[in-house]
Amino acid sequence: MSNISIPLDVAAAEDHLMRFLSVEGVTGSERNIGLAVCDALKKIGVPESAIRFDDANKRIPLPTETGNLIVDIPGTRPGPRLLFSTHLDTVPLCAGAKPKREGDRIVSDGTTALGGDARTGVALLVVVAETLIKHKLPHPPITLLFTVREESGLHGARELNPADLNGAAMCINVDGQMASELIVGAVGQENWEVEIKGRASHAGVAPEKGISATLVGAVALAEAKHNGWFGKVVKPDGRGTSNVGIFGGKDNKPAGDATNVVTDYAFIKGEARSPEAAFATKIANGYKEAFAKAQSEVTDYQGDKAEVKFSHKPSYPPFELGKDTPIVKRATKALQMLDIEPVYVFSNGGLDANWLDKHGVPTITIGAGQAEIHTIKEYVNLKEYEKGCRLGVLMATLDD
Ligand SMILES: [Zn+2]
Repeated sequence: MSNISIPLDVAAAEDHLMRFLSVEGVTGSERNIGLAVCDALKKIGVPESAIRFDDANKRIPLPTETGNLIVDIPGTRPGPRLLFSTHLDTVPLCAGAKPKREGDRIVSDGTTALGGDARTGVALLVVVAETLIKHKLPHPPITLLFTVREESGLHGARELNPADLNGAAMCINVDGQMASELIVGAVGQENWEVEIKGRASHAGVAPEKGISATLVGAVALAEAKHNGWFGKVVKPDGRGTSNVGIFGGKDNKPAGDATNVVTDYAFIKGEARSPEAAFATKIANGYKEAFAKAQSEVTDYQGDKAEVKFSHKPSYPPFELGKDTPIVKRATKALQMLDIEPVYVFSNGGLDANWLDKHGVPTITIGAGQAEIHTIKEYVNLKEYEKGCRLGVLMATLDD
């Protein structure tokens, strides 16, 4: 490693991580992990008055135990306020995780995921605060943000009131794998869904009197595929991806309930992603046209058609930071000081960074060792975690 010295207490950093990994907090149920973080912060000398939960959970359309956790740390030198963010919640597969150390890794017992996504980030933020306070390192004003319900749709970051960030000029979000990888942009997403109401009829006695909702859906999807809107989408005016995630009936049941009845109802739900919000909308509209065509093709013997209700709406906006953005320069400089070659990544999935950027805070996402996330093979790479912690401390203390 390089010759710069960062007074990182590696054992303490691993203890924080181990502790946070052992506290359950699946998406929507972040109270206990939020309190564990408050506890840790108070122990390292952050005054209780600097720690608060916002009311984002009141605006999130899903039950959520607490708001985002926000912590202000006064600067010990002047400078633009830095925001450090990560998410408190884990995917449901992490429920009951029992973290244990195996060499340079922390693993689960193989029956659950681990939750390094994003408890590595949670621990890293606490480690940054602890290191700054303990070693009295000069730093500008800092805000720590621990969001809720990231895994179920980036809700906490979306519903954040930007005024709560106290004018933060830039953000370091911690939610990645390798310390060398800097996520500088991500796609935006548009969700679409369609409800098809056909008409039931006896499939053996009078199939011609029915209008099959299943067939309308099938013909529409084949049409969308034929027109290049399914999967990887590459057109002269844009690129993106799309998927059909759910093809079923009412209330998560199958479409139709017997082979001898023409299916009268189907529900289909999908998504479209693109680096350009307008192109994600265009992909959704490609599906819309395909469903309209299928509607006109699938009729009963008198020419009656199914009722097709198609709707789409943006889920999160895309963003991309230029190489000369102050936060990108800051991260690049810090990595170079650590003798790590930066790799700039554009993500095909949304992050809290998408919303933080939308809220006016240019946000880079760094990695701190989470690996094989959302699977029972998930583990934390402790070498990367340590590098991530050093990167975090360095980014907090670099000259502007
Ligand atoms: Zn994550």
